Amino acid sequence: MIVLAPDSVAVRLKSPGPRPRRISVLGATGSVGENTLDLISRDPTSYAVVALTGGRNTARLAELAVKYKAELAVIADEACYADLCARLADTGIEVAAGSEALIDAGSRPADWVMAAIVGAAGLKPTLAAVRQGTCTALANKECLVSAGRIFMREVARSKTSLLPVDSEHSAAMQVMGSRAPESIERICLTASGGPFRSWSLADMVEVTPKQALAHPNWSMGPKVTIDSATLMNKALELIEAHHLFSVDAGRLEVLIHPQSIVHCLVYYRDGSVLAQMSCPDMRTPIAYSLAWPNRMRAPTARLDLASIGALAFEAPDETRFPALRLARDVLAVGGSASTVLNAANEIAVGAFLDGRIGFLAISRLVEATLDSSAHLVGPSADSVDEVLAIDAEARVIALSLLLRFAQSAPAR
Ligand code: NAD
Ligand code: MG
Repeated sequence: MIVLAPDSVAVRLKSPGPRPRRISVLGATGSVGENTLDLISRDPTSYAVVALTGGRNTARLAELAVKYKAELAVIADEACYADLCARLADTGIEVAAGSEALIDAGSRPADWVMAAIVGAAGLKPTLAAVRQGTCTALANKECLVSAGRIFMREVARSKTSLLPVDSEHSAAMQVMGSRAPESIERICLTASGGPFRSWSLADMVEVTPKQALAHPNWSMGPKVTIDSATLMNKALELIEAHHLFSVDAGRLEVLIHPQSIVHCLVYYRDGSVLAQMSCPDMRTPIAYSLAWPNRMRAPTARLDLASIGALAFEAPDETRFPALRLARDVLAVGGSASTVLNAANEIAVGAFLDGRIGFLAISRLVEATLDSSAHLVGPSADSVDEVLAIDAEARVIALSLLLRFAQSAPAR
């Protein structure tokens, strides 16, 4: 459920409102963060940058902070603090580091925030922005996978506007608004199928990180690119859609669409199907969230259907890509199962990128962690700290199981 209260940013944005708009970007040095700032750089007088954050890349964070005249630059890794201070000395930009400083960046008063930290690490800073009542553009889908119920409760409580940035969920919102009405039978998220869509299971055993990082359509950060190759990304997105649009799992579907032109299809009960299309460039859904409820000009390629000729679709293969089944299991079990799935997946993706486990072991490790975490799943956590405690315990379990998969990983 997305709450658009009468006094929310939704209404304020309908009138031109005060300019410049004060914006923050959490995860500014990443793929979504950079794309957001690219849009802002094309109309700099309309925006004033409040806070920018990064993980470890002090050089890039300092460059961006200077270029966009940020008030505050925060680096997540405390060991990078001195380096960031040195780079921003005499600029007048406030510098901070560490997890509390990230939360402070999220809570700084702003009109709009892009939540683009990767992983559960983004949960507290993003929630800080939501609690502050800042209009929140949400790229960090792991927030909803890990803590969907609590997150959406806070959105409702603060009466803020939550705008999905994930292309499929942005597409769904563009088609039907912020909540699935009764007249909708089902929502179908499309997936490119990733680089191994037509590979045999035998060939997938040998997949290397380099191959998995080469996405056919989208240019993204490493974690979401690996998630796209295993289809775990679509699994996370099913859970994301469940929370965002208050739709039960039985009305959510996935369709493989290798060209990534159609991002979501919404099936109405009279037989109509409405879809949103655009070239695969994240600047389109980011622009939608930045200009919402209006539209802004985005510097993206325009769709030329005549030159594309035909659009292809196929059903997903859950034998080669078991992540989708895991998402459905997790949604059926409820409680904290999706917190465990997300934590295990973060461990598994990291281990694959480090060459410690093979590609197929990613989903297997997630499944094994879920199987060993019955004691964690129980009822839903009721606070963010409870979620993070379950997340931490699930990571310990996944790491202990890692050895089992590491031993059978192909040498590379
Ligand atoms: P990325 O890896 O390119 O960037 C992530 C950002 O988070 C960087 O600024 C990084 O420094 C920061 N970061 C990393 N670890 C951190 C930590 N522990 N604490 C604080 N900051 C940390 O990732 P991305 O591709 O930009 O994706 C960001 C989020 O958006 C992910 O949740 C992803 O699933 C989602 N998303 C991305 C795309 C895309 O096209 N890239 C599309 C849809 C959704
Ligand atoms: Mg997506």
